[in-house]
Amino acid sequence: MYYFDHCATTPLHKVVLKVMQKTENDHFGNPSSIHSWGHKSRSIIEAARSQMADSIGCSPYEIVFTGGGTESNNLVLYNMIYSSKNHVITSAIEHPAILKVLNRLKQFGVETTILKVDKSGIVNPDELHNAIQQNTGLISIMYANNETGVIQPLEDLSHIAQKYGIPFHSDGVQTLGKIPVNVNDTGVDMMSFSAHKFYGPKGVGALFIKGNTSLKSLILGGGQERNLRAGTENVSGIVGMGKASELAKSELKETQAHLNKLEQIFVSDLRQNIKNIKFNSTSNGLPGVVSVSIPSMESGKLLIGLNRRGMAVSSGSACSSGTVKPSPVLKALGLSNDLNLKTLRISFGKGNSEEDTRELVKAIVEIVTRKSTYG
Ligand code: PLP
Repeated sequence: MYYFDHCATTPLHKVVLKVMQKTENDHFGNPSSIHSWGHKSRSIIEAARSQMADSIGCSPYEIVFTGGGTESNNLVLYNMIYSSKNHVITSAIEHPAILKVLNRLKQFGVETTILKVDKSGIVNPDELHNAIQQNTGLISIMYANNETGVIQPLEDLSHIAQKYGIPFHSDGVQTLGKIPVNVNDTGVDMMSFSAHKFYGPKGVGALFIKGNTSLKSLILGGGQERNLRAGTENVSGIVGMGKASELAKSELKETQAHLNKLEQIFVSDLRQNIKNIKFNSTSNGLPGVVSVSIPSMESGKLLIGLNRRGMAVSSGSACSSGTVKPSPVLKALGLSNDLNLKTLRISFGKGNSEEDTRELVKAIVEIVTRKSTYG
């Protein structure tokens, strides 16, 4: 399969599709209904909650299902409106579902300190320590980055937050299914997840909320999800997420080995064939996620050329409203705007083979050396 964009989204796992189809067919009852159709839907939601909890090492009551990673992040951040402390610390390489929200929260009097990262994208724990103020009410630093795969030293960072009694949230959307996730080991109070990043359905996510952490709902209505997310539950989506999380855990070792192998082949073959390339990702980041800058060609052209060959990758830069802009994440790593616009993100998945990977390298080399998208 020539789809190399698994950080954007993944295809549904076959087993997940089956359980979702069965749910849609057989269990259409409203989980809040008192009759047995309702009870059945309620019980399969609770089974999915247990699966999700087990896959990240927490208790089922610490899981709230949401409409995705974006919503989980928003739920945490919007709670700053009610906080007596109005200062948030975050990092320069967060997803827009963090940075844009914090920008919006300015109008509610919420102030933000954005921590710089080093050349590999890591937040320095000393800098986090120095940024803490009397009025710091939340620290939100992502677990793994979606553009480069860099993994933060979460335990060190959350340890500092604990010392000062500050709630610590982490966007863990890119982690499940690629690295072992145990929320208690990381020491966080809250962590966001999204099913479609680990072979589950789109439009369903979860937020881990540690036992004693109190949040107010973003969405009001019927009081579902312990009053934290009103609205009739997306039953098949939640069931799909539960199954996908279970498979993410049970298939992790095999998946990691596969992704590492593909990454190795890709990096070494590309290095041998194209001069002056710069890898922005490191080998100790998320397996199978590669950010590479190719100085001799803009990523937009490469993307088109690869698409013509039926191959999907992503540019390292943010594409909004049809214009390609330098990626703020790569900028934070110190990349020049020129190199920024010449960066590709390749994210391998379970369905890619070694042969597919070699074909991808071959296509990139052909396009770059001929300097033509048609080549
Ligand atoms: N956070 C990170 C790190 C992501 O990569 C993404 C998806 O691209 C999101 C949040 C948003 O998740 P969702 O698409 O489920 O809203």
